[in-house]
Amino acid sequence: MRVPTDLELEKRVGALTLEQKVRLLTGADFWSLHSEPAVGLRRLVVSDGPAGVRGETGDERDTSANVPSPTALAATWDEERIERLGRLLAAEARRKGVDVLLAPTVNLHRTPYGGRHFECFSEDPVLTGRIGVAYVRGLQAAGVGATVKHFVANDSETERFTADVRVDERTLRELYLAPFEAIVRDGGVWSVMAAYNSVNGATMTENPLQRDVLKQEWGFDGVIMSDWFAGRSLAAAGEGLLDLVMPGPSGPWGDALVAAVRAGDVPEGSCADTALRLLRLPARAGPLDGGPGTASAAPWHSDQIAAELRAAAAAGFVLARHEAPIADGEPLLPLNAGTLRSVAVLGPNTFVARTLGGGSATVFPPYTVSPLVGLHMALGPDVRIVHGRGGQSTHRLPVAPSELLHRRDGSNGVEVRFLDATGAALGSEERNGATFTWLSSYGEGLSMEQVRTIEVYPRLQVEDAGTYLLGASGLGSFHLTVAGEVRMDSRLTLPAGADPVEGMMRPPQASAPVTLREGEEVEVLLRYEPPSSAGGFGDADVHMVMFQLNVMVEADDDAELEEAVALARDADVAVVVVGTTEEVESEGFDRTSLALPGRQDELVRRVAEANPRTVVVVNAGAPVLLPWAGDVAAVLLAWFPGQEFGHALADVLTGTAEPGGRLPVTWPLNEDHLPGTQPADGEVRYDEDIFIGYRSPEREALYPFGHGLGYTTWEYAALEADREQAVVRVRNTGSRRGR
Ligand code: BGC
Repeated sequence: MRVPTDLELEKRVGALTLEQKVRLLTGADFWSLHSEPAVGLRRLVVSDGPAGVRGETGDERDTSANVPSPTALAATWDEERIERLGRLLAAEARRKGVDVLLAPTVNLHRTPYGGRHFECFSEDPVLTGRIGVAYVRGLQAAGVGATVKHFVANDSETERFTADVRVDERTLRELYLAPFEAIVRDGGVWSVMAAYNSVNGATMTENPLQRDVLKQEWGFDGVIMSDWFAGRSLAAAGEGLLDLVMPGPSGPWGDALVAAVRAGDVPEGSCADTALRLLRLPARAGPLDGGPGTASAAPWHSDQIAAELRAAAAAGFVLARHEAPIADGEPLLPLNAGTLRSVAVLGPNTFVARTLGGGSATVFPPYTVSPLVGLHMALGPDVRIVHGRGGQSTHRLPVAPSELLHRRDGSNGVEVRFLDATGAALGSEERNGATFTWLSSYGEGLSMEQVRTIEVYPRLQVEDAGTYLLGASGLGSFHLTVAGEVRMDSRLTLPAGADPVEGMMRPPQASAPVTLREGEEVEVLLRYEPPSSAGGFGDADVHMVMFQLNVMVEADDDAELEEAVALARDADVAVVVVGTTEEVESEGFDRTSLALPGRQDELVRRVAEANPRTVVVVNAGAPVLLPWAGDVAAVLLAWFPGQEFGHALADVLTGTAEPGGRLPVTWPLNEDHLPGTQPADGEVRYDEDIFIGYRSPEREALYPFGHGLGYTTWEYAALEADREQAVVRVRNTGSRRGR
């Protein structure tokens, strides 16, 4: 289908009244733009991004292919692969009724403390730009729009709605603007998201950089949309600084903008220009004239998706260290399933696949493959696999695992009921998990005002005898009964001054201990009353209700550590999977320490002492400190690798796949000389100038930018260099293919 020309679009804009034009410039709801039948425009749907296409719901029944997180994608250094993943995401978008993806995120790894580090590609602007261009091309070639975000200098989360980034022009252009420039000029991106923060005194939704650099200098002809609730005033309207306020339907423009035009404060012509930009997006992505997209994304079969995601994850794994243990001098990897008799698979990230970071990048994958399951399937019945957690990495309560929850008919999951103020049931849902999010309305169209109480009913069945902590997370009042007995009655609130987003990403929790026998099944009822002003965006007009049911067995970290060491001692090889979780690395807050949470360093040290043939797999979206790195035989950096984690890990450990990744970020040796994220008097000063990551003369790297080993050997045969480039001729001198 042909994309209408600007002349044709101008005619359509000309046919609209002022009110109709202005209406288009604010979202219709949380995830969509208004339709306008007068010009053949249907509702246009946007969705997060970047590690999958979430769609309009936050419901685990509405699953999404979970691709590796952006640090893992950049670690592939493989534009062709990323373009292919872009096509996969386009197919996902079409399947889920999404026209424009809110991705890629191309802010830089200024500092590993940044909460959204996992969601950005690299510390290097060129690599970020090249991977970003490939991502955008893959999506847009299949007719789905990309939205490069967050323009610009949104490189940390603390006070993100107000922080004023102070950065000089050279640094801004050479580093932070450079990936956006590549994606606008070479990627031809259709949409840009303006960040929450300010740069040099002007908030990014009203910043002249938009008009002067993005539009005039780079020739960007698409839509600049605000980050969610970042469009704060009328000031940007008519100045070419912002084209679309998201979300809607309320916002600072609307009637106020119509009145400003009528009063002569904003020229009507500028609204027409903005409306023209706005119409280019549906013209390209399909919603104008009812087309399915400029080219339609062919659907992918689930086997194809699985194979692509498995290969992509392996292609991003970085083998950072591989030393033959002194004891026998035999290289540890790849593991030989033929001669191996036993493997101890240990660590807190062994059983639960940590495939994603937290925040708006979260999707519900159809399944995940944990490291333990992946290794089991790859090594087969002849290799004995023993496993242990080796202590907890967090003392926050996890979401209740759905294997423990049953509905009355015995199937896995819970029943949810919606009650009005009198306690009368208004509706119900059957859910597969224990984390709940509703936006603007409940299922079956129940309004937020009608529902006063939400009840969650599972039967909880545990395998092992023990004391279990049963609880809830969220904001509001929680009342928990177990077998008819009240166990908890708490009102949970955020500490004064906390970022509201923290209430969504790392909500307060309460719990009560319940002792259960082996195999015992009990009736649980969690009754939740949302606070009267439900929502997480200050005074913005949005109703969002989020909470979780939590279950965790009370554990003895000392005993688990001892057990893990004993298991490692008796095995041929120990694989220890350590890392973070989506509650450690998330949108909404920055990290304050790069140490692995809990006693994971102790676990690694003790396991490696017990068994020199130890491989440590680091499952974190961003660098963490590895103080034991010199004392273990192998270190594999696996990032947040998407739903196929365990299979990809087994492929790389057994040598079916090459560990394809090379570091897109300097892996720090310690926390010295790292730029901070904490604003002082509201300002974040980029005083390090251009010297972030590998450019810093002061920082010490444990593993440098670009580092990564493989299973073959290389000879460097020749080097030719001129002023522009250096070309190295290499020869593969090993017996395997390498990269
Ligand atoms: C995030 C954006 C995201 C938007 C919509 C914001 O809080 O910063 O990255 O696209 O929410 O979920």
